[in-house]
Amino acid sequence: MSWFSTVEMAPADPILGLTEKFKADTNPDKANLGVGVYQDANGKLPLLPSVAEAERRVASVPQPKPYLPIDGLPAYNQAVKELVFGAGSPVIERVATVQALGGTGALRVGAEFLKSVVPGAKVLLSDPSWENHRALFTAAGYEVESYRYYDAAARDIDFAGMVEDLRSAERGTIVVLHACCHNPTGYDLDDEQWGQVIEAVKERELVAFIDMAYQGFAEGLDEDGRVVRRFADAGLQFVCSTSFSKSFALYGERDGALSIVCADADEAKRVLSQLKPVVRTLYSNPPTHGARLVATVLGDPELRAQWETELGEMRDRIKEMRAALVEGLQAAGITDDVSFITDQVGMFSYSGLTKDQMVRLREEFAVYGTDKGRICVAALNPNNIAHVAKAIAAVW
Ligand code: PMP
Repeated sequence: MSWFSTVEMAPADPILGLTEKFKADTNPDKANLGVGVYQDANGKLPLLPSVAEAERRVASVPQPKPYLPIDGLPAYNQAVKELVFGAGSPVIERVATVQALGGTGALRVGAEFLKSVVPGAKVLLSDPSWENHRALFTAAGYEVESYRYYDAAARDIDFAGMVEDLRSAERGTIVVLHACCHNPTGYDLDDEQWGQVIEAVKERELVAFIDMAYQGFAEGLDEDGRVVRRFADAGLQFVCSTSFSKSFALYGERDGALSIVCADADEAKRVLSQLKPVVRTLYSNPPTHGARLVATVLGDPELRAQWETELGEMRDRIKEMRAALVEGLQAAGITDDVSFITDQVGMFSYSGLTKDQMVRLREEFAVYGTDKGRICVAALNPNNIAHVAKAIAAVW
């Protein structure tokens, strides 16, 4: 008898499972709009020239691969702080930052740490949210609920519902907020709405956990970081996970970070000391290579400027594809208002299509999006957009 004979097959990850099906599809017009990965105009995952140059520089001086400190590469953490909070910001001295295994790793380290700070707290996620948020916080032992966010009928944010839900949350509830490029809907709050969220978090004494996986993809690095900076300026203590997976196209290097904004520098020191045992017992210390690449780019003014240009090109290409999709849908005969596609920001569009329509898209047209109707506009390009627009129009 095997110890494992009664282990059942787990359901495939909803998004990665789609990629498996996509790979097996023989339709020459197939398009994978499921996974959240930016592709260039040729449908390829880019290697950013700034990153390629950093690779050359790192390789030109062969270095040993020591264990990094538990909290990561110091130059990397400093670069993260400056990018997220603004270079020279007085907030930085009261932030505890640890390098993490992508945004996902940062979320998990934050979740583990918060268990000792707000024991028994519930987690509130936007409805809907990134699929892995619920699974991750549940796996970390939390009871997970949601606050209203997307109003399908209005194709907009149910902001009144969101604020009402935040205002009725118990003190100490952890509220996960998307800083920009909300995944999966593509709808972000405006400045005035963020102000109201900050008020609610403050008055109800909630623990904000800001997830910023797409800094630079909505309007720009500083513009997208604004939300995090406003929370800090409001005098709040909160948690922020960030990721360079998308902004550097370094998906596989697992370059992320967790930053905890504290009341003062002394508190930040104590918090950092408590993050270390969390990291130590999960994976001991983070990997070297990806952190060296990011620190190289961000530490060199020329390379950094080049990277910002390349990030801007990714952002602009996505916007062009949004506009082209609207045009394509109209050309394919759709007379409904589809301007929501250009109103949304970031890598995704919540198309409003039902599960049945998404299944038809897949089975009849080999266009792969998630069953909830999310499509990755960052995977559209001049070669696949006409087919995708026609397919969507056919199931509309
Ligand atoms: N948060 C959100 C909202 C995301 O969309 C993602 C990536 N899809 C992550 C976190 C995780 O980022 P990473 O891939 O760096 O782990």
